[in-house]
Amino acid sequence: MDLFEHQAKELFAEYGIPVPRGVVAHTVEQARAAAEELTGRVVVKAQVKTGGRGKAGGVKVAADAADAAGKATEILGMDIKGHTVHKVLVEEASAIAEEYYFSFLLDRANRTFLAICSAAGGMDIEEVAATTPDKVAKVPVSAIEGVDRARAREIAAAGGLPEAALDGSAELIEKLWAVFVDEDASLVEVNPLILTADGRVVALDGKVTLDDNAGFRQPEHEAYADKAAEDPLEAKAKEKDLNYVKLDGSVGIIGNGAGLVMSTLDVVAYAGEEFGGQRPANFLDIGGGASAEVMANGLEIVLSDPSVKSVFVNVFGGITACDAVANGVVAAFQLLAERGESVTRPLVVRLDGNNALLGRKILADAALPGVELVDTMDDAAKRAAELAAAGV
Ligand code: GDP
Ligand code: MN
Repeated sequence: MDLFEHQAKELFAEYGIPVPRGVVAHTVEQARAAAEELTGRVVVKAQVKTGGRGKAGGVKVAADAADAAGKATEILGMDIKGHTVHKVLVEEASAIAEEYYFSFLLDRANRTFLAICSAAGGMDIEEVAATTPDKVAKVPVSAIEGVDRARAREIAAAGGLPEAALDGSAELIEKLWAVFVDEDASLVEVNPLILTADGRVVALDGKVTLDDNAGFRQPEHEAYADKAAEDPLEAKAKEKDLNYVKLDGSVGIIGNGAGLVMSTLDVVAYAGEEFGGQRPANFLDIGGGASAEVMANGLEIVLSDPSVKSVFVNVFGGITACDAVANGVVAAFQLLAERGESVTRPLVVRLDGNNALLGRKILADAALPGVELVDTMDDAAKRAAELAAAGV
């Protein structure tokens, strides 16, 4: 998960890293009020999860609160590389003497961490790295040894930072390493890292990527999730620990195993061509187990998408055999009825693999309303597409 600049800076501040004082504003009036509170010159910065905001006109210095309101009017709603600006960060303006570049990242190719540091920071760092790579120091960092103050100072010196900035940078870099490790980040980047006119070293920008795989031990990271940008069905699925991706077709898909579900999407898209271009409505992998609850949750998510006109449940029984899956489907219908969410759209079920015959018998005997059993994946896909076309 990538953080917004203001979130990255809030995190930096928790670790004692110097950042400018700032306030997030969602409206022009909030921006004006923020500038009044900060007093004096401020910078109005678009909060979007992409780089190059400065060059796109998303970072503007304002002389006073009225000017800040004007700048916020220009920036809010702006499109920056496909990202609409919904909020700005209003910050006290900094007197910049010099701009540097610093980052810690995971260097996958070399199986190590990497510090990147350059005295030639600011908006053209990519250009600098491409044309004069010797101005950009790349220093491997051992996960075991980490970065103490002395090591941080060496890295800053390797990047060509001037004497006047070394102590401040070393302190900042050491703290940034703590952010990187303690927060399970895969990237922390500060560009520009500045030396102010009065000799302080400050993080003027912040980019942080958190490793979602460490989410289980970082419960407070949940607060950073951008709920507004999430698809509501995907958010609901995530709450239920389901592996769901919303697509734009009409055939709901439920399968066990990511590979099987992927090929189901292909087969349904192909079969759907014959029926006016019916396409899969989602990806949903219910995984190895077959509990009634997982099946019920899966059905509930898929059916709460109004564009779903039929559902294709495609299961290949392995360690979890088809009879267990069939019992799961039957129990899921009961569970859904208890939740007041009965299944109102047709369901095509294909069971194959371990105990397929027994599974099919269980489903046939249950005679669930709207449920059809089809023996092969191709025929089931075709039937599901046909039912979807009829339901549109
Ligand atoms: P990015 O372009 O998305 O990386 O946005 P940055 O936060 O890095 O800002 C871009 C540029 O705006 C910086 O390199 C600075 O030159 C300039 N800038 C940002 N904040 C200030 C400030 O407080 N004062 C001045 N004078 N310039 C600033
Ligand atoms: Mn920047």
